[in-house]
Amino acid sequence: MLRPFFDERIHTMNNQYCLPLGDPHLRAEVRRTWLRNSSAGQNIEVSLPDGSTHILNGLLSQANHKQAKGIGFLSVGLTLTPRSTGRAGRSLCLFATPGCAAACFADYDRLAWPKNKRVAVARTRLLAYSPEQFLALLMADLARQRTRAERLGVQLVCRLNVVSDVPLEREFPSLFASYPDVQFMDYTKDVRRLLNLERPTNYHLTFSRSECNESDCLRVLEAGHNVTVVFRKSPFPPTCWGYPVIDGDGSDLRFLDPSPCIVGLKAKGKGAREDRTGFVLDAASLPQPSIKYRPPSSLPHDRGSFVLTLPAKREVTA
Ligand code: SF4
Repeated sequence: MLRPFFDERIHTMNNQYCLPLGDPHLRAEVRRTWLRNSSAGQNIEVSLPDGSTHILNGLLSQANHKQAKGIGFLSVGLTLTPRSTGRAGRSLCLFATPGCAAACFADYDRLAWPKNKRVAVARTRLLAYSPEQFLALLMADLARQRTRAERLGVQLVCRLNVVSDVPLEREFPSLFASYPDVQFMDYTKDVRRLLNLERPTNYHLTFSRSECNESDCLRVLEAGHNVTVVFRKSPFPPTCWGYPVIDGDGSDLRFLDPSPCIVGLKAKGKGAREDRTGFVLDAASLPQPSIKYRPPSSLPHDRGSFVLTLPAKREVTA
């Protein structure tokens, strides 16, 4: 069950993005009547907020432009809806901020097309109201895609949160164990997910900077992981917070990046280009680290860059 993802914390943590969950009895009734298996095996009919229905027979989409640049791999992605935009009664991005919401990739390029948004809403509602059917459909889809990858002689790469931040390793641990040869990857703003030592070994995460999570970025870097930073334009600065900056727009294969480093991404779409919240950084006004540097010596993934002396760590609970 998706209990942690469903619980009421979403109201207090991210109130501005949450829709009311409503009466629990009503929700149960809706859940029973919204979904029904069609006679065509894996096809599942999902009711949408406008009263229409959508039939899902798979959940994974072909690579977007950037994923497609990953030569030697077959990339697929699971596109849900960010925050509460799927009207499934919960937020899919518990750590979204005003800056990232306004610049979200969900409103850019083909993800913004109405027919694609409609499919994303249907997938999100299936996840919310029938997680067991969602998992079964995802497993079947992964098996199909893996066969395709085998035929092509390449490895399958699956990005599970194209525009969402759902801790699927917690909700569906069997997914990762069932496909040990598939490389799963994601970006997240949830520092607990990233620093969780029990995360499946075939699930790579890169932390995403926002306008208000600088201390978490520094913790992640100190632990030897990577952080994405959105810059208003290229060329990117050579370093940020003392760590080298690499160009993350070349491909989406983040698990191949050296670490620790900053993965620079160029602002895309009107919302990102016009950001004034601090989510998008101008190279000329990089944030000054509020903490003291010390010479590199003790980091496991040290690559000769400066490292940071951080205040005492808080307890991290997965
Ligand atoms: S940028 Fe990421 S965290 Fe922010 S709203 Fe979009 S998907 Fe969610």
